[in-house]
Amino acid sequence: MLVLLFSQQMLSAQEIVIANWYNDKSGAVVMSFDDWLEGHEKIVVPELIKRNLPATFFVSIQNAKWRRTSYEVMREAQAHGCEIANHTMTHPSLPTLSHAAAKIEIDDARQTIIDSVPSAQCLTFAYPMGTKNPEIIAMVQRQHIGARSVALIDERNITYDFASDSSDYFKIGTVRVWHIVSLEKVVQWLDYTAKGGGLLTFMLHSVYNENIEKGWDAMPQEYICAMMDTLKSRQDILWVCTFAAAMKYHQEKKQTEIKLIKEKKGVRTFALQSPLDATIYNQELTLKMAKTANTTKIKQGFRNVDFQYSADGKWILFNVLPGSGNFTIDSN
Ligand SMILES: [Zn+2]
Repeated sequence: MLVLLFSQQMLSAQEIVIANWYNDKSGAVVMSFDDWLEGHEKIVVPELIKRNLPATFFVSIQNAKWRRTSYEVMREAQAHGCEIANHTMTHPSLPTLSHAAAKIEIDDARQTIIDSVPSAQCLTFAYPMGTKNPEIIAMVQRQHIGARSVALIDERNITYDFASDSSDYFKIGTVRVWHIVSLEKVVQWLDYTAKGGGLLTFMLHSVYNENIEKGWDAMPQEYICAMMDTLKSRQDILWVCTFAAAMKYHQEKKQTEIKLIKEKKGVRTFALQSPLDATIYNQELTLKMAKTANTTKIKQGFRNVDFQYSADGKWILFNVLPGSGNFTIDSN
């Protein structure tokens, strides 16, 4: 009996692993646009939709209020896979405020986004001007799953182990895209990310053209379009995603265990065990199983799960959704 139990555990532990990033990509890349500016509405959102690319918009509510069209465009962006996320009501330096005032800035902005963009979960945050302290981080942590700072990352060391404890998800570093950054530099950052296997977030601000004024860190429309095309061309090796998706995936991988719970007539049943709330942490995970000749069917609950082979031919890759029950592998 002991031998049997041991061998089953070995089987599940060795044979199926969770890929580091969705669809087994080498690294994750997020374009994040801060403040919600005119160029985001009129240039960035349409150009993203044209390319079927996601991005995260950290919205400062006071800026959204200046234009009647703001929430309509946000809803459209969200419907096309973008993330509408929290950047406070009035963009203050949070550590200079009273506890109560800081709480209102964070909570009211989140509620405004949820009320105005019903499909938005509003789970991530960016600190205005990047200013934060442990008290502010704890306040953000109550209703969010991650936060981007303005701290610059070590670009040559974009590794997967960027969060050793849960508060590290609230201090995610970034790279700043502004007029001194060439497209060659963007390509280099993407290469470092693929090599290091970690998460790269681009921090972008205003985008302009002949009809839209320059603001903070202004970048011309042509540049942003070329940057999007560059990211698009790297999607075979990099997961271009929202900040929330990256935060979810990384935490889900860390906390999820795959347990073999039953084996009968060539059909093995596995459970995904995780302490995370699956209504929040609802990002599909990519599982990798050593390739065998006779895998015929994978199911999660009653749903048939498509599978494919990794580029090197060694693995079977398939996606499962946390909170959607056990999955089975039929080897008959
Ligand atoms: Zn800002």
